[in-house]
Amino acid sequence: MEIVVAQHSGFCEGVERAFQIALQQAQAGQPVYMLGNLVHNKQVVDKLKAGGIRSVATVAEIPAELDSIILISAHGVPPEVYDEAKAKGLKIVDTTCPWVKRAQNLAGKLANEGCAVVIVGDKGHAEVQGLVGWSRGLARVVQTVADIEALDLAPDQCVGLIAQTTQAEAHFQTLAAAMKSRVPAVEVHNTICGATHKRQSAAVEVARQVDLMLVIGDKMSANTKRLTELCTATGTETHQIETAFDLDEKWYDGKKRIGVTGGASTPDWVIAEVLTVLRSAP
Ligand code: SF4
Repeated sequence: MEIVVAQHSGFCEGVERAFQIALQQAQAGQPVYMLGNLVHNKQVVDKLKAGGIRSVATVAEIPAELDSIILISAHGVPPEVYDEAKAKGLKIVDTTCPWVKRAQNLAGKLANEGCAVVIVGDKGHAEVQGLVGWSRGLARVVQTVADIEALDLAPDQCVGLIAQTTQAEAHFQTLAAAMKSRVPAVEVHNTICGATHKRQSAAVEVARQVDLMLVIGDKMSANTKRLTELCTATGTETHQIETAFDLDEKWYDGKKRIGVTGGASTPDWVIAEVLTVLRSAP
């Protein structure tokens, strides 16, 4: 059985940066709190918790102790969260990925210019909620062409279209075309990050060459979910797993080539464990 690992797989630079910043803070000797999940991966979050970082769902849960640190997650938060943390006297350590920051700045700029802001993204995702916040709550979130058709927009209106950083490229282009047919002068800003783009292309390339594709990553991870959808769309049998414990031998029984990729928030050690189990299979 041959195993083909996608060329771009696992931790992206934004997640690596957030993880390293969090580990450094954990050694500072002050109470450190991460707001929500620093990145969308349970194994990474568990490792940070084991290093002494506490997890809270809201700023209000953080005790107002002297020198407490709040970690802002890689996928960003709305501006009110910074205000709340500052008002409480917390030290803010911001791990927002620069790609997300760029999309947040664009959402704010377009809203300030009086344009309608439309975000192609997953409505409940933390990054998207942050982007809506940076547009002062004015942005509208769309997931489908039907959502675009349902928007209340005039054809001559100023409209800016942006993307959640982990959207699939082709999906964004489809929705951008639908928006152009409604508002021809729409400003399209493709804010999909480079890491997402590379991981999607590499995963699809491998999926087309193998009999079975395994995508490793947390169910909460938007970019991992997207990789699974894209690999499945190639027609190759695809399974998303979180760790080696989710592997089912029946999947690879009789298969000659198995493809493996990991989402941008999947750590190397989890990918390595999966590869070890696959390589030891009869
Ligand atoms: S997937 Fe992209 S936007 Fe998200 S953390 Fe990684 S580099 Fe940043």
